[in-house]
Amino acid sequence: MIEVTGVSKWYQQFQVLKDCSLTIKSGEVIVICGPSGSGKSTLIKCMNGLEPFQQGEIKVGDVSVGAKGTDLPKLRSRIGMVFQNFELFPHMTVRKNITLPQVKILGRSKDESDARTIKLLERMGLPSQADKFPAQLSGGQQQRVAIARALAMDPVAMLFDEPTSALDPEMINEVLDVMVALAQDGMTMAVVTHEMGFARRVANRVVFMDQGSIVEDAPKEAFFGTPRSERAQLFLSKIL
Ligand code: ADP
Ligand code: MG
Repeated sequence: MIEVTGVSKWYQQFQVLKDCSLTIKSGEVIVICGPSGSGKSTLIKCMNGLEPFQQGEIKVGDVSVGAKGTDLPKLRSRIGMVFQNFELFPHMTVRKNITLPQVKILGRSKDESDARTIKLLERMGLPSQADKFPAQLSGGQQQRVAIARALAMDPVAMLFDEPTSALDPEMINEVLDVMVALAQDGMTMAVVTHEMGFARRVANRVVFMDQGSIVEDAPKEAFFGTPRSERAQLFLSKIL
């Protein structure tokens, strides 16, 4: 589904990604972890064309992300992205946040979009929040709205960048629970997170990054059992 091959990226002299390769098959859930500044956000932004890269190739299905002529808006609509800070439109109701992109980007009718929005809000456990504005919701609720908005585009894969790290502790599980359900439904997912409980529950593989490199890419049992690299061992000893 997503194939990253030998990707390198520089900001001027600074190399932020170093020869990264990673394959995510359809239905797989990959957790990406590693120290702050190791390039995790940059890597997943490259996957949906939000960041350019200078070397290597990224394919989503049969679309090459870096190639000239690739329709990036269309590609982005097929890959859902959920950020740390929700990034909802603050001046629109929850309903409008989820409905508008369906109408604008997919050309769905208003009625069909509305029906889809209601279904998704039910699935996220938010059936009665449709007419509120983002600021009237808790962080955990806002993040579930952001997930609903991404799902409304019928994405082939979902990318999450530290989706719970801006949340108060008591709200983390309500977001992780919908992500677990999504994973169990077979969604292809790449999740940057330090929530190792989530990784243990649903990840197929854990990828560990350090200083722009993918240092480890292992089935979760192997990663948690005996990480090969010292850097991953040290990292785990600090967060577990
Ligand atoms: P992570 O998500 O793992 O914390 P990032 O991908 O956000 O790491 O950043 C990786 C490195 O790239 C960091 O050292 C960061 O300072 C640097 N970086 C990120 N964005 C820019 C930018 N626009 N210009 C220069 N350096 C950047
Ligand atoms: Mg980051």
